[in-house]
Amino acid sequence: MKNALVTLVAPAALALFPHAMLAQPGSQTMRLPRVPPITINTSEEQIRQIADLVRAGRRLTPKSWPNGARVAVAFSFDVDNESLFTARPLPVPMSQGEYGAISGMPRILAMLDRQQLPATFFIPAMSLMLHPEMLESIEKSGKHEIGVHGWVHESLTSTGGVEEEQRLLTQSIDYLTRALGKRPVGFRAPSWILTPDTIKLLLKAGFLYDSSLMAMDEPYAIASNDKSTGLIELPISWIRDDYPYYGENGDGSLPSPDAVFAIYKQEFDVAYEEKTLFVLTTHPHISGHGSRVAQLDRLITYMKSKRGVWFGTLEQIANYVRDQNRAPE
Ligand SMILES: [Zn+2]
Repeated sequence: MKNALVTLVAPAALALFPHAMLAQPGSQTMRLPRVPPITINTSEEQIRQIADLVRAGRRLTPKSWPNGARVAVAFSFDVDNESLFTARPLPVPMSQGEYGAISGMPRILAMLDRQQLPATFFIPAMSLMLHPEMLESIEKSGKHEIGVHGWVHESLTSTGGVEEEQRLLTQSIDYLTRALGKRPVGFRAPSWILTPDTIKLLLKAGFLYDSSLMAMDEPYAIASNDKSTGLIELPISWIRDDYPYYGENGDGSLPSPDAVFAIYKQEFDVAYEEKTLFVLTTHPHISGHGSRVAQLDRLITYMKSKRGVWFGTLEQIANYVRDQNRAPE
């Protein structure tokens, strides 16, 4: 199928998500679990309904990337900092988060500058409240993108219902829009947790792309009930993340940065062979430590040694993917 991406029209998108109406504000359903579990008593039809709500649609990898490149690469940083320690905001964990802003970020930005590389930073509003100075340092090179990553890095399933999720999303967008002077176009869910309502809310807010799902290693159209929603997914993976390897404490536990480098490199090599996409997700308070930034630096140098590697922000990649998948007029 070579359909054009569906235009982002809110009413059409809303019609795709009947589950969204399950939680009515003020009603008793507000505090029920947002997603009923699948059990031995769930019917086949119900299983399909639950699974089909958010699915991988059509593959969107273009025939070639800009300048004939064979692979697109995006370095993304989730700037969680102190917002990852909200459940127990004691001085020591808060300082571990603070490290991300005052030690990790400068080191990462200096490395990206040295490599002349663009990157995407997903920032919870709370991180910017505590460290507004990060904004100027990210924007200094003029190469980087900033995207939405929640209000206080809240788990979206813990919000009371679709109305509260909507409110927090709007607050997060507005906060970043005020700070940046322009509206962000990319969304990444805190902790990569979506509710059945999230995609509908992202469409309504006019996002260009999401980067929270994992059904493929290449760009794809997010589908719902067998129809394209028009939202582009630039998928992530726990394998191409730093959190599972180093943990949130940044405590230097094994595996060594060398071993993590090897995994990232192998993931990139496959994306290069398959001519698709490589998206890496790391966190300034985790990967901003010296030994780890050194490995990111080494990874970029390795990638640059290969021909035909295009480095872009996720916004640039999503725009290119969208343009290449437009049907001729
Ligand atoms: Zn996060």
